[in-house]
Amino acid sequence: MAAEKKTSEAQIWRATVLTLFPEMFPGPLGVSLAGKALASRLWALEARDIRDSATDRHRSVDDTPAGGGPGMVLRADVLAAAIDAADGALDSQKDRPKDRPRLLMSPRGRPLTQSRVAELAAGPGPMIVCGRFEGIDQRVIEARGLEEVSLGDYVLSGGEIAALALIDACVRLLPGVMGKLDSGADESFSDGLLEYPQYTRPQEFEGRPIPEILLSGDHARVAAWRQAEAEALTKARRPDLWAARQVQTRPVQTRLGQTRPAQTRPRQKRPKNTTEG
Ligand code: SAH
Repeated sequence: MAAEKKTSEAQIWRATVLTLFPEMFPGPLGVSLAGKALASRLWALEARDIRDSATDRHRSVDDTPAGGGPGMVLRADVLAAAIDAADGALDSQKDRPKDRPRLLMSPRGRPLTQSRVAELAAGPGPMIVCGRFEGIDQRVIEARGLEEVSLGDYVLSGGEIAALALIDACVRLLPGVMGKLDSGADESFSDGLLEYPQYTRPQEFEGRPIPEILLSGDHARVAAWRQAEAEALTKARRPDLWAARQVQTRPVQTRLGQTRPAQTRPRQKRPKNTTEG
């Protein structure tokens, strides 16, 4: 019985977060769909205090930057010990997920995309290191093979909010977490496009009606309208996504010598690899 339980525990999608502020978790991930799924053990969250791996009397985790400059840097030895302790925390070598991604939230990292989120959601779940202060010692990034992941081109005061965002994006893709199976798929980025506009009741709001086509009951026309809206929005707002999508859909020569995308089909019902934003 006990052995059986352990096996299933090891198999659920698990995020392990290394942080100086474990009290920030689960935080917003404890409510709504992610929170319900966490409570019913559809996924697991482990927040580990980096400070537990400090060795000196003062439990210090940081020191001044070599070469001078403002602020403090997280020590390589303390952080490496925290990573190794998290690796060893699962009971046996057998239970340890192979190829578990080790991420470092970092403004220098590769910007997070929906396709990377989908990959992470499909795996065993990542270990995520949250930086603080000026960041972490470069040598631990190299020695422990940390993949730097950025939330965007701005600077947060710590990696925790970035880690919460990343985990949230993954968890909503896990089987059984979202109410309706499809609702995670037909949305922004799932096909390299931003989402079409959504409407609900009332039928008229401050003199603005819902576009008539959406009330027509003609599913094919609705799908075509949504596809056109999604394309127009993407072209206007995210020329980078649009250009990447044109490349991905392999333009073909038409008889008039113009190029058009090879595939122009309705949006996918399943998440699939999208263009890198
Ligand atoms: N001096 C660093 C910024 C440190 S901010 C620099 O200029 O690059 C402190 C910590 O916050 C970082 O170590 C990182 O873990 C987190 N962080 C800040 N901005 C982030 C972003 N855009 N994406 C992901 N993590 C971020």
